[in-house]
Amino acid sequence: MNSRNCIIVGTGPAGYTAAIYAARANLAPLIIEGNQPGGQLTTTTEVENFPGFPNGIDGPQLMENMRKQATRFGAEFMATLATSVDLKKYPFKVTLEDGQTITTKSLIVATGASAKYLGIPHEKELIGKGVSACATCDGFFYRNKIVHIVGGGDTAMEEATFLTKFASKVFVIHRRDSLKASKAMQERAFSNPKIEFLWNSTVSKILFDQAGVTGIELENLKDGSKKERKTDGLFMAIGHQPNTNFLNKQLALDDHGFIKTHEGPYTSVEGVFACGDVQDPHFRQAISAAGSGCMAAIAAERFISSKM
Ligand code: NDP
Repeated sequence: MNSRNCIIVGTGPAGYTAAIYAARANLAPLIIEGNQPGGQLTTTTEVENFPGFPNGIDGPQLMENMRKQATRFGAEFMATLATSVDLKKYPFKVTLEDGQTITTKSLIVATGASAKYLGIPHEKELIGKGVSACATCDGFFYRNKIVHIVGGGDTAMEEATFLTKFASKVFVIHRRDSLKASKAMQERAFSNPKIEFLWNSTVSKILFDQAGVTGIELENLKDGSKKERKTDGLFMAIGHQPNTNFLNKQLALDDHGFIKTHEGPYTSVEGVFACGDVQDPHFRQAISAAGSGCMAAIAAERFISSKM
């Protein structure tokens, strides 16, 4: 059976950064790329807030650069999925989609979290063309524009408030007539003159032309009536789903399914580390994910050294 020092599952900024650090620490890491190599940033256009790129950089290019950097130090990539793990015995076992099993002395989980979408036609193909699930990443492109944001939780309130720095008007679309968000976040949004709420409503259709989103069809969930509205951007803030199914509940998770970590990257199982969005419901930035990937690799290296 194939045996490794370090397996990293996932290839967003967290996984790639962990790969760079683990490779430079001579752990010869094996990286399981997953079904979207490069992660969420491969679906964005320009990234303007990653330090070191004064003129911004394309998301896919940034990810390709990180991959090359990890490869230069000997990281090995496998274009496959990890379908299950066995963390009950040591060394740990990782099973791949072709049934192959690999043992490893340390495991870094960097599988990210997938933004939830509404499931309406065309929303995925319009990501980067007016549809976004990250106001912090894309808000800047909506200066003096009209935007709509879907959701009633803390993320929706935080992102709606953030969007008012750029947009001329922010409409919050919520499916009920009261918010799930904390009182403090609600009040901040209610008192912002640029934010208006559209209650008991959902987006039933996205209107677009070749350049991207031009409007939405809004459905009133009380009476079923539908109305078209102009918008330049449609933001989704209806939660994130951490990608943890393959762990089969062998790591402690919080109420929303994020991996519980302590003192940085440490999980409930010694020798297993988590980094990036799979353990972070709060910040979800490429740079914070990359930072936590660095911590996970250093922790893995220390753990393996302590076993020698
Ligand atoms: P939440 O799960 O808390 O909220 C999701 C919101 O989206 C809810 O209002 C929900 O509606 C709505 N929603 C879900 N599915 C759909 C759908 N299919 N169509 C329409 N609306 C939908 O997710 P958040 O991302 O807001 O927050 C996640 C966690 O992160 C929470 O614990 C939150 O407190 C925390 N957080 C904290 C922040 C802070 O403290 N600064 C900032 C951001 C997040 P409904 O209300 O009807 O269920």
